[in-house]
Amino acid sequence: MDCLFCKICAKTIDSDIVYEDEKVIAFLDINPVNPGHVLVLPKIHVEHLVDLSDEDILPVMKVVKKIMKALMSQSDVEGINILQNNYSAAGQVVPHVHFHVIPRKQGDGHRHWPGTAYQEGESAIMAERIKSAL
Ligand code: 5GP
Ligand code: ZN
Repeated sequence: MDCLFCKICAKTIDSDIVYEDEKVIAFLDINPVNPGHVLVLPKIHVEHLVDLSDEDILPVMKVVKKIMKALMSQSDVEGINILQNNYSAAGQVVPHVHFHVIPRKQGDGHRHWPGTAYQEGESAIMAERIKSAL
Protein backbone atom coordinates (compact mmCIF):
# COMPACT_ATOMS: atom_id res chain seq x y z
CA MET A 1 0.00 0.00 0.00
CA ASP A 2 1.59 3.24 -1.12
CA CYS A 3 0.25 5.34 1.74
CA LEU A 4 2.48 7.60 3.82
CA PHE A 5 0.53 7.08 7.04
CA CYS A 6 0.34 3.29 6.53
CA LYS A 7 4.14 3.39 6.21
CA ILE A 8 4.37 5.36 9.47
CA CYS A 9 2.09 2.75 11.12
CA ALA A 10 4.36 -0.01 9.77
CA LYS A 11 7.47 1.94 10.99
CA THR A 12 9.01 1.92 7.52
CA ILE A 13 8.94 5.72 7.80
CA ASP A 14 10.08 7.32 11.05
CA SER A 15 7.87 9.58 13.12
CA ASP A 16 7.68 10.84 16.69
CA ILE A 17 5.07 8.43 18.01
CA VAL A 18 3.40 9.57 21.23
CA TYR A 19 0.81 6.78 21.58
CA GLU A 20 -0.04 3.49 19.93
CA ASP A 21 -2.26 0.50 20.56
CA GLU A 22 -3.65 -2.33 18.45
CA LYS A 23 -5.98 -0.08 16.43
CA VAL A 24 -4.75 3.50 16.76
CA ILE A 25 -1.53 5.50 16.40
CA ALA A 26 -0.72 9.09 17.35
CA PHE A 27 2.42 10.96 16.28
CA LEU A 28 3.70 14.51 15.91
CA ASP A 29 2.78 16.36 12.73
CA ILE A 30 6.04 17.01 10.86
CA ASN A 31 4.96 20.59 10.12
CA PRO A 32 3.04 21.70 13.22
CA VAL A 33 0.63 24.61 13.49
CA ASN A 34 2.04 24.90 17.02
CA PRO A 35 4.63 22.64 18.72
CA GLY A 36 2.89 19.52 20.05
CA HIS A 37 0.44 19.29 17.11
CA VAL A 38 -0.49 15.58 17.04
CA LEU A 39 -2.10 13.45 14.32
CA VAL A 40 -4.37 10.60 15.51
CA LEU A 41 -5.42 7.87 13.09
CA PRO A 42 -6.72 4.34 12.80
CA LYS A 43 -4.09 1.85 11.68
CA ILE A 44 -6.57 0.43 9.18
CA HIS A 45 -6.31 2.27 5.82
CA VAL A 46 -9.44 4.26 5.05
CA GLU A 47 -9.36 7.55 3.21
CA HIS A 48 -12.23 9.53 4.70
CA LEU A 49 -14.15 9.63 7.96
CA VAL A 50 -17.30 8.24 6.31
CA ASP A 51 -15.33 5.13 5.27
CA LEU A 52 -14.53 4.30 8.90
CA SER A 53 -17.00 1.92 10.57
CA ASP A 54 -18.84 3.09 13.68
CA GLU A 55 -16.95 0.41 15.57
CA ASP A 56 -13.58 1.78 14.43
CA ILE A 57 -14.41 5.43 15.10
CA LEU A 58 -14.75 4.97 18.85
CA PRO A 59 -11.17 3.87 19.61
CA VAL A 60 -9.81 6.73 17.49
CA MET A 61 -11.94 9.31 19.30
CA LYS A 62 -10.87 7.90 22.66
CA VAL A 63 -7.24 8.54 21.70
CA VAL A 64 -8.08 12.04 20.41
CA LYS A 65 -9.49 12.78 23.87
CA LYS A 66 -6.50 11.17 25.61
CA ILE A 67 -4.05 13.31 23.58
CA MET A 68 -6.14 16.41 24.27
CA LYS A 69 -5.94 15.76 28.01
CA ALA A 70 -2.17 15.24 27.82
CA LEU A 71 -1.73 18.48 25.89
CA MET A 72 -4.02 20.44 28.24
CA SER A 73 -1.88 19.26 31.18
CA GLN A 74 1.06 21.21 29.74
CA SER A 75 1.48 24.60 31.39
CA ASP A 76 1.86 26.42 28.06
CA VAL A 77 -1.33 25.02 26.46
CA GLU A 78 -4.55 27.01 26.92
CA GLY A 79 -6.84 25.48 24.27
CA ILE A 80 -7.12 22.76 21.65
CA ASN A 81 -8.44 22.64 18.10
CA ILE A 82 -9.50 19.26 16.72
CA LEU A 83 -9.61 19.32 12.94
CA GLN A 84 -10.32 16.64 10.39
CA ASN A 85 -10.04 17.29 6.64
CA ASN A 86 -11.90 15.17 4.09
CA TYR A 87 -11.18 15.26 0.34
CA SER A 88 -8.75 17.66 -1.32
CA ALA A 89 -11.44 20.36 -1.64
CA ALA A 90 -11.40 20.55 2.17
CA GLY A 91 -7.61 20.54 2.38
CA GLN A 92 -6.94 16.83 2.87
CA VAL A 93 -3.43 16.11 1.61
CA VAL A 94 -2.76 12.63 3.01
CA PRO A 95 -5.53 10.21 1.97
CA HIS A 96 -5.61 8.20 5.20
CA VAL A 97 -8.19 9.46 7.69
CA HIS A 98 -6.64 11.43 10.55
CA PHE A 99 -7.52 13.94 13.26
CA HIS A 100 -5.35 16.97 13.97
CA VAL A 101 -5.08 17.75 17.69
CA ILE A 102 -3.61 21.24 17.85
CA PRO A 103 -2.49 22.95 21.07
CA ARG A 104 -3.41 26.64 21.25
CA LYS A 105 -2.46 29.61 23.33
CA GLN A 106 -4.01 33.07 23.64
CA GLY A 107 -2.41 35.36 21.09
CA ASP A 108 -0.65 32.60 19.14
CA GLY A 109 -1.69 34.38 15.97
CA HIS A 110 -3.88 31.67 14.41
CA ARG A 111 -7.40 32.62 13.36
CA HIS A 112 -10.55 30.71 12.62
CA TRP A 113 -11.95 30.95 9.12
CA PRO A 114 -14.49 33.74 8.64
CA GLY A 115 -18.25 33.10 8.78
CA THR A 116 -20.85 34.69 6.50
CA ALA A 117 -24.45 35.31 7.61
CA TYR A 118 -27.30 33.55 5.76
CA GLN A 119 -29.64 35.51 3.52
CA GLU A 120 -33.32 35.59 4.61
CA GLY A 121 -34.82 32.06 4.33
CA GLU A 122 -31.58 30.46 3.21
CA SER A 123 -30.82 28.63 6.46
CA ALA A 124 -34.24 26.87 6.49
CA ILE A 125 -33.64 25.58 2.95
CA MET A 126 -30.16 24.40 3.87
CA ALA A 127 -31.38 22.65 7.03
CA GLU A 128 -34.11 20.91 5.00
CA ARG A 129 -31.60 19.72 2.38
CA ILE A 130 -29.42 18.19 5.07
CA LYS A 131 -32.33 16.61 6.98
CA SER A 132 -33.73 15.02 3.83
CA ALA A 133 -30.31 13.47 3.08
CA LEU A 134 -29.99 11.85 6.53
P1 5GP B 1 -4.16 16.91 5.91
O1 5GP B 1 -3.99 18.20 5.15
O2 5GP B 1 -4.15 15.71 5.00
O3 5GP B 1 -5.32 16.96 6.86
O4 5GP B 1 -2.89 16.84 6.85
C1 5GP B 1 -1.77 16.08 6.59
C2 5GP B 1 -0.74 16.42 7.65
O5 5GP B 1 0.31 15.47 7.58
C3 5GP B 1 -0.07 17.80 7.44
O6 5GP B 1 -0.34 18.62 8.59
C4 5GP B 1 1.40 17.48 7.31
O7 5GP B 1 2.24 18.41 7.97
C5 5GP B 1 1.53 16.08 7.90
N1 5GP B 1 2.57 15.30 7.29
C6 5GP B 1 2.86 15.19 5.97
N2 5GP B 1 3.88 14.35 5.76
C7 5GP B 1 4.27 13.90 6.99
C8 5GP B 1 5.28 13.01 7.42
O8 5GP B 1 6.06 12.44 6.64
N3 5GP B 1 5.38 12.79 8.76
C9 5GP B 1 4.55 13.41 9.66
N4 5GP B 1 4.76 13.13 10.95
N5 5GP B 1 3.58 14.25 9.28
C10 5GP B 1 3.43 14.50 7.96
ZN1 ZN C 1 -3.00 4.40 4.75
